Amino acid sequence: MTGAPRQSILRALMRRRVFREASDEEWRDWRWQLRHSVRSLEELARLVPLTEDERRGCLETKEIFRLGISPYYLSLIDPEHPFCPVRMQAIPRGAEALRSPGELRDPLGEDRHRPVRAIVHKYPDRVLLLALDHCPVYCRHCTRRRITSGEEGGISREELDEAVAYLREHREVRDVLVSGGDPLLLSTARLVELLEQIRAVPHVEIIRIGTRVPVCLPMRIDEELARALRRFAPLFVVTHFNHAKEVTPEAREACELLVDHGIPVENQAVLMRRVNSSARAIKDLMQKCLTMRVRPYYLHQMDLAEGLEHLRTPLQKGIEILGALRGWTSGLAVPHLAVDLPGGGGKVTLQPDYLLERRERETLLKSYRGETYSYPEPRETDCSVPYDEVYYR
Ligand SMILES: *Cc1c(COP(=O)(O)O)cnc(C)c1O
Repeated sequence: MTGAPRQSILRALMRRRVFREASDEEWRDWRWQLRHSVRSLEELARLVPLTEDERRGCLETKEIFRLGISPYYLSLIDPEHPFCPVRMQAIPRGAEALRSPGELRDPLGEDRHRPVRAIVHKYPDRVLLLALDHCPVYCRHCTRRRITSGEEGGISREELDEAVAYLREHREVRDVLVSGGDPLLLSTARLVELLEQIRAVPHVEIIRIGTRVPVCLPMRIDEELARALRRFAPLFVVTHFNHAKEVTPEAREACELLVDHGIPVENQAVLMRRVNSSARAIKDLMQKCLTMRVRPYYLHQMDLAEGLEHLRTPLQKGIEILGALRGWTSGLAVPHLAVDLPGGGGKVTLQPDYLLERRERETLLKSYRGETYSYPEPRETDCSVPYDEVYYR
């Protein structure tokens, strides 16, 4: 048996084997899930037959980065296959303890742009707000591991107040991306309180919440939370599915609940070697996201965080995958391929080069099928908009 039926049977077996004692009610309670998260090699080895490499990974990363897997996410693991994409995202390998040339503790040069501890202000009109340092699952590919490892210490209420004060003082900020850690691990009451403070800043136009909860702890998203978030529109939820295997009925229910309440949901995936680094896996993921009304936003090239060399792909691989999407499937399913420049240059996007040659009166372009076409350039090149002077006066 293959495909979706095999996956759902595997999941049922895993749940029974792993958390036999849990009632359905407990299983659907996100706080039960957090209380029963697997946080040590000993617990994990009792539940999943680990490979030697995974055992070594757990031991050697013990002092470097947190281990934490919600029972729900653990139940998606294929116990028989060491290259299961869920398994590779949740269970460390020996290679994660290695440092490779060029890797950085602060790969995106964020610490130079933290005017207050809980704010990263790197772009002209938008900021990242770090709400807390905890997650329902610690992704082995985490780029902010210096924060989510707990090494910096948690983020206090005073530091969040200080962040909101910074927003108030900086009129150029029109977009606030609340992330961390996973902000949906805050209680709904605490989250609402924080969002109220942000919404009260008059120049903040949009709020985004960066969360992996729909993927790793979908039971957190209930009617109460969806209603609460709707009050802060325009508010976007940006989530993080990396493989079609994560698109379960529970994840679908969580995303659809948000969308049904008028909250747009976007996805940011990370391209990871041997986890999802094929055109087939990425295309399937993007198409499945759309069936949940989740819009693919970024496909991230892996950052140069410490210990992630084994998960990095050559830049050309991402470009090639994008070439296999554009034109071949719905444009809505095509994400931007983003490279966040090491050291702090910010994100840039890459795509196959469709531009072949610029001539005086025409430009030669390549179609998605690789054939050459000519686009005749207009005679007039002045593109200033006369009405701008009226509309923006
Ligand atoms: C990615 C990112 C943003 C948001 O960038 P968009 O391209 O607008 O999605 C904002 N701040 C930081 C520090 C980021 O890394």
